[in-house]
Amino acid sequence: MKIPVVVDCRSGWIIRYHFRLRRFGLDRAEEKKYRGMVSERKLEHIKEYCREKHLKYYIDNAYGTRDSGYRERFLKSYHPLFGKIYFCAYCGKLLSRRRVTVDHLYPVAKVSRDLELQKRLKRQGIRDLNAVKNLVPACERCNQAKAAQMGKWIRKGKLGRHKWIWVVRWLLRVGLFLLFAVALYLWHAGYLNCELLEMLPVFYYS
Ligand SMILES: [Zn+2]
Repeated sequence: MKIPVVVDCRSGWIIRYHFRLRRFGLDRAEEKKYRGMVSERKLEHIKEYCREKHLKYYIDNAYGTRDSGYRERFLKSYHPLFGKIYFCAYCGKLLSRRRVTVDHLYPVAKVSRDLELQKRLKRQGIRDLNAVKNLVPACERCNQAKAAQMGKWIRKGKLGRHKWIWVVRWLLRVGLFLLFAVALYLWHAGYLNCELLEMLPVFYYS
């Protein structure tokens, strides 16, 4: 199987890399970019060379690029709470439409370079990283902290993309706060004492 690969020589003079990249079977395409179809074995050599020379590369397939319309597509398909409240999928922060950022759960920067990961995602039914099911709402801070990481971020994001999880969490917090406030008030007013506790069946029968 041949793999479409692109090496981006943005850093430095391309003449330094030209002959080596040509030997890998890549042709100069656009300005400072070399592309070609290579075998898996050759891809490993290209990766090694790019790492050594600090060049960027990616596999130019459905996993390789970040399309420009993903934010709009996500915002169109997502239904925020009351039509305007978004929750960060990672920390639950409340966000307005203007402040919400749209994050790729499986990061393009990582997946576009990793053939094994691409095969795994294909098996999971994820064929396009710009598809809505790979996008989550996030606050700017989490989006930057996550960057191209996976692991726990993927687990958090998959769970946190369901807004009801955060709604329930907020309700629980408010409920606990109110309970505490009422208990404090009763205690202050002198109602909360042992006699009151004895009125509860669990204390009565014990
Ligand atoms: Zn966040």
